Amino acid sequence: MSKPVCYSTKAYSTPSASSKLGATMIERRQPTPTDVQIQILYCGVCHSDLHYARNEWHFTQYPAVPGHEIVGRVTATGSGVQKFKVGDTVGVGCLVDSCRTCPNCRSGLEQYCNAGMAGGTYGGTEKHLGSPTLGGYSQSIVVTEDFVLRIPANLNLAAAAPLLCAGITTYSPMRHWKVGPGQKVGIVGLGGLGHMAVKFAKAFGAHVVLFTTSPGKVADAKRLGAHEVVVSTDEKQMAAQTGSFDFILDAVSAAHDLNAYFNLLKRDGNLTLVGAPEKPLPVAAFPLIMRRRSFSGSLIGGLPETQEMLDFCGQHNITSDIEMIRMDQINDAYERMLKSDVKYRFVIDMASLT
Ligand code: NAP
Ligand code: ZN
Ligand code: ZN
Repeated sequence: MSKPVCYSTKAYSTPSASSKLGATMIERRQPTPTDVQIQILYCGVCHSDLHYARNEWHFTQYPAVPGHEIVGRVTATGSGVQKFKVGDTVGVGCLVDSCRTCPNCRSGLEQYCNAGMAGGTYGGTEKHLGSPTLGGYSQSIVVTEDFVLRIPANLNLAAAAPLLCAGITTYSPMRHWKVGPGQKVGIVGLGGLGHMAVKFAKAFGAHVVLFTTSPGKVADAKRLGAHEVVVSTDEKQMAAQTGSFDFILDAVSAAHDLNAYFNLLKRDGNLTLVGAPEKPLPVAAFPLIMRRRSFSGSLIGGLPETQEMLDFCGQHNITSDIEMIRMDQINDAYERMLKSDVKYRFVIDMASLT
């Protein structure tokens, strides 16, 4: 395969774990016959962007351009593109490709591709150029049409951007564990993921309990759909919930005590971890073995389920609660994210980069 011709586009990148992000120019491939070129209008800011920019997962490739909650408008299509045309409103999430042949890819579970995360929107491998993939903190991106998603027309575009990661990451495990009416469901952490989880659990008909370390978020959690809110630093409030949950989704970005949450599950209850803190979280045996409780993880979602989630959001008018920022506010936004001071997702207005 010959290398495609490239063009330059503006972006924000960081050269090292200890540097701030700043303006730069990056190269994107010109669309090949199966590619869609997208002008990025908005990009959500995921805590994974921060983990990645600061090499907290120890696999960052520098210079790094984060961003995987991308929405924009199609500006060009390759000659063989069937599903999209210039002017369409589209989204790109955490994946821009996968091997497409392994059993997981064939099942539409591309996030679990046996080739790993080579198809990641950032930190993967650009198949055509052989270089690291660069994310959505930029003016444009070129993506193979099979990894481009449709955004329902009734949704506010900026508020829909976080659905591409925070949305699917919380929707997918709740579908897998069949969250629905008659169940008591806990959500741990009211951040970008957590606030989407509250909205989905409510929409699926469950009784929703939100756990937060921030007493100032109690009223918001109720407004977002939680039936009960527990301040997790209050031992009495925690003890009152012992043994009562069918399912708990943990969306915390930092070190915390998982065992305290296992104790809140019923017999055969499950806790699924989607948060990806830098350091390992200790798991004690007894809280799990006492009531045959289970502990699992979940990674974003595949392409078919991501489109299903977007369509569900279109039908139920679900989007993210966002705070719009300019591109040059990204470093401050990261600092605020570390202080749990986000209501409830930063979204970059990419017009601020031009
Ligand atoms: P976020 O917006 O920063 O939210 C994280 C929330 O966790 C905070 O708002 C806070 O909620 C709580 N929290 C923070 N520090 C805490 C601590 N020390 N103890 C207890 N709670 C704490 O982050 P996000 O974008 O939602 O991402 C959350 C995590 O999920 C990150 O680690 C991210 O990398 C990961 N992630 C995983 C996937 C996946 O596929 N599995 C996808 C996307 C993101 P309260 O103020 O309510 O306590
Ligand atoms: Zn993310
Ligand atoms: Zn695969």
